[in-house]
Amino acid sequence: MKYILSLDQGTTSSRAILYDDQATPIHTEQQEFRQIFPQSGWVEHNAVEIWNSQKKVTLDLIRSNNLSAEDIAAIGITNQRETTVVWDRQTGEPVYNAIVWQDRRTAEFCEQLKREGRSEFIREKTGLVIDAYFSGTKVKWLLDNIEGARTRAENGELAFGTIDTWLIWNLTKGNLHITDVTNASRTLLFNINTLEWDQELLQLFDIPAAILPEVRSSSEIYGTTEKSVLGAEIPIAGIAGDQQAALFGQMCLEKGMSKCTYGTGCFLITNTGEQPVESKHQLLTTIGWQLGPSANPVYAIEGSVFMGGAVIQWLRDGMELFINAAESEDLASTVDDNGGVVFVPALTGLGAPHWDATARGSIFGITRGTTKAHLTRASLESIAYQVDDLLEAMESDMGQQMKELRVDGGATANNLLVQFQADTSGVEVVRPKNLETTALGAAYLAGLGSGIWDLETLRQKWSAEHVFKPEMDAKEVEHLKRQWHKAVERSKNWIDA
Ligand code: ADP
Repeated sequence: MKYILSLDQGTTSSRAILYDDQATPIHTEQQEFRQIFPQSGWVEHNAVEIWNSQKKVTLDLIRSNNLSAEDIAAIGITNQRETTVVWDRQTGEPVYNAIVWQDRRTAEFCEQLKREGRSEFIREKTGLVIDAYFSGTKVKWLLDNIEGARTRAENGELAFGTIDTWLIWNLTKGNLHITDVTNASRTLLFNINTLEWDQELLQLFDIPAAILPEVRSSSEIYGTTEKSVLGAEIPIAGIAGDQQAALFGQMCLEKGMSKCTYGTGCFLITNTGEQPVESKHQLLTTIGWQLGPSANPVYAIEGSVFMGGAVIQWLRDGMELFINAAESEDLASTVDDNGGVVFVPALTGLGAPHWDATARGSIFGITRGTTKAHLTRASLESIAYQVDDLLEAMESDMGQQMKELRVDGGATANNLLVQFQADTSGVEVVRPKNLETTALGAAYLAGLGSGIWDLETLRQKWSAEHVFKPEMDAKEVEHLKRQWHKAVERSKNWIDA
């Protein structure tokens, strides 16, 4: 009996998940690590802490299941994307903390690039918008601000990596300096059409090529762990950034298939097939996966909602309407409808496809009959409307109607929300049995890359727990969406920028 091990390195915790040969999850170990906020807008992690926590949960998992490392057939890695580490190739020591995707320290430089009219040039090559979120400007910041870093980088003494690269470097004791196409496609340095680091972008960001990892596919045997690290030489056979891993874990294998994760925010990503689709709505074009070195990449289009389940958190902690997020469903179910109340949760502005940083949260349609149940219902509905706006933008970019949406994440426990998504979007919304799709995706990629499973077997292993079909009367849907769009327009341009 052989197992697959998935390493899921997230923004707040490192997790290791063990799967049996049927891809059934057996056991999970998890450890949180420090979030470091040196100044306003800066977010860092200690890269050594990340590695230590990841190693600890992995060893704990092997031990607590009375396994030895030889029982692990392959390792798959999925990770928080864009977070940037630069380290010394000799000592393996990071030159500075990891700069996390949320970090805004390079926002001013990004504005400068936009003013210089670089947006189109960068979008064509990378599929991305210019933003501090992505790794490229973070690497530049490290080379510009850490004493001696630029010279050492030019001399080939330093290595750059996203978290997948950093983990693999440590798992192999420096034998492998690699990343995969999905992680590379979030750096602003990688050309998603040629599948190579882009010389012109490296020049623009002033980054020496000597620092870069080799880019590999998302599913192949890259090499093995060094024996002393986990106790055996285990093949590493799958890598993908977290959202792409979830898209794969949801088995969205055909063009036009989408998954949405409803956590703090909502992350919608759609398989666009073997051609990249350029967005007219400022959505991101990215690589979904590449199944082996000789396979064509599958592209994806991606958009996110800032306030997803966080709306419910705010009702719970800010408004103190209930104690558990799960109570939101019971409360909202005590009324038949929203009673005319529409809530635009632009608490931190509006993202895609509206893009208005000056919008603020607004509640419309309040009457003397309005209760907290109506407000709660309107809040749940607002999550679905925001996802629907993204879906519509994607449909328009792709020129294709969505038929099905596969969902996961904490807030999909809420049946009222998921049913409302099916109603407003007019699509079948499918909740799978295994909701841990990110870790599952990495396990699938590793099982595939090491030849344990094939794609058909995986497709059969994936199964739905519940399918929510659209039920609402079309006129009612149209009315509700009209109210929502009217409310969105009125919430815009609120604070004086
Ligand atoms: P993250 O990975 O972003 O921390 P999770 O997938 O753990 O998020 O989901 C947690 C989010 O889902 C929280 O914002 C919480 O408010 C929301 N949530 C959890 N359960 C429910 C529920 N039953 N109904 C609505 N929202 C929920």
